[in-house]
Amino acid sequence: MTTRILALDQGTTSTRAVTIGPDLQLHGMAQEELGQSYPKPGQVEHDPEEIWRATLSVCKRAAEAADARGAELRGIGITNQRETVLLWDAETGVPIHPALVWQDRRTASLCARWRSEGAEDMVRSKTGLLLDPYFSASKISWLLEEIPGARTAAEAGRLRLGTVDCFLIWRMTGGQVHATDASNASRTLLFNIHSQEWDEELLRFFNIPASLLPEVRDSNADFGVTSAEISGRSLPIRGVLGDQQAATWGQGCLEPGSMKCTFGTGCFVLLNTGSRPIPSHNRMLTTVAWRLNGATEYALEGSVYNAGSTIQWLRDGLGILKHAQESEALAAQADPRSQVHLVPAFTGLGAPWWDPDARGALLGLTRGSGPAEITLAALESVGHQTADLLESMRADGAPASSSLRVDGGLSSNGLAMQFLADILDLTLERPTILETTIVGAGRMAALGLDLPDWPVGAPPIDQRFSPDMDQEERQTRRAAWASAVARILSS
Ligand code: ADP
Repeated sequence: MTTRILALDQGTTSTRAVTIGPDLQLHGMAQEELGQSYPKPGQVEHDPEEIWRATLSVCKRAAEAADARGAELRGIGITNQRETVLLWDAETGVPIHPALVWQDRRTASLCARWRSEGAEDMVRSKTGLLLDPYFSASKISWLLEEIPGARTAAEAGRLRLGTVDCFLIWRMTGGQVHATDASNASRTLLFNIHSQEWDEELLRFFNIPASLLPEVRDSNADFGVTSAEISGRSLPIRGVLGDQQAATWGQGCLEPGSMKCTFGTGCFVLLNTGSRPIPSHNRMLTTVAWRLNGATEYALEGSVYNAGSTIQWLRDGLGILKHAQESEALAAQADPRSQVHLVPAFTGLGAPWWDPDARGALLGLTRGSGPAEITLAALESVGHQTADLLESMRADGAPASSSLRVDGGLSSNGLAMQFLADILDLTLERPTILETTIVGAGRMAALGLDLPDWPVGAPPIDQRFSPDMDQEERQTRRAAWASAVARILSS
């Protein structure tokens, strides 16, 4: 009988489940969109009950598809949107407020005040992160201050706190297990990534009672057994990872120096730094990649705000594409002499520029510039921004890499990937399976269950992109990009 793992990916915009076998193929994908709620400008919330209903529904459907094929399910692996946080009643399991999503900026002024008081260095040195609303801690402080009765209930031990993985584990085990894994804990701004413990000084600083917190377990630990309601049977939960870490694991980036880049709406680079957490002087994040059998491995992480979203803008804002996929053929028609640059700073610029007030620009237009040249510039902007990130990581002393593994929707664009290989002077490897996040959750559970026959290391490669640009041209193009960016910086 074939054995499979049920893998769940609770993401920002959807909840998906599949079953995966040792050949890493996906079977019976079930998916539900997740509603986004924007109560006020800058605020983003999710309905926890909707997340839970969708989780039940997609897990059941994926499990039924496996049953219909006569496959045996051995366990479940979970990956999830990171940093999003919930508080729920310890008795009833009912959240006291909608989930505050990682994108929610309601605590921006609170974080700015803490930064102005000089707290960022202390927070960074312990957590590897920045004192920013993106991470969970300021959101938890907000919930405890703003929701009537929350602090009293928290201090009386009547509430539980968790990221989405933790909430789902609690619900799946019928309130038996209150636990998270080290990769998710490392995104809360409360977890000391060096000592691998919740940090008392941080808890005092953010004024968060320790009784709220889950136990932090290895990513391949035993997270209890699901009640039969989940998939028609009880399944052991044996793998838990935040989404970017799951993609890194799914890509088999297990050695120091190996790295992956996921190109979706934005783009996320994670570079494995092994047992050494490398502090960044370029505002990259130092994060837990995973903790296996008590041994922590770390990664440097950097992200670009606008990658696929730039292509969406060409489609929905400018109307020069019907589908994102058309961008490759259109860009291939561009005049090769064109020197158009698109700096997609729609929401400011991230690393290494860190200018939230910068706004986008289209530069170098001539009468010959049209949709093809603008589309080429958009795809090249993805490559240049990724190169900016990798240069920052190198400057931080990250281990050298000889290749970059790519995945996510935009990685199917061959022209964009070739340009990226050229501008980075690195070989890119694109696996046959681009769903590396959910595969990573399945692979982690297989490790937790100690299943034989599951491969370790990189999944099969579908295509390699080798650099094919001479040094002088690369330098000229990088300098042109840097001067385009310099034109739009706000100060
Ligand atoms: P997310 O998980 O962030 O929603 P996906 O991995 O599903 O993202 O990728 C979708 C993004 O990739 C969209 O922003 C879309 O514009 C972009 N995209 C998808 N296919 C292509 C393509 N062939 N060329 C360029 N961009 C693409």
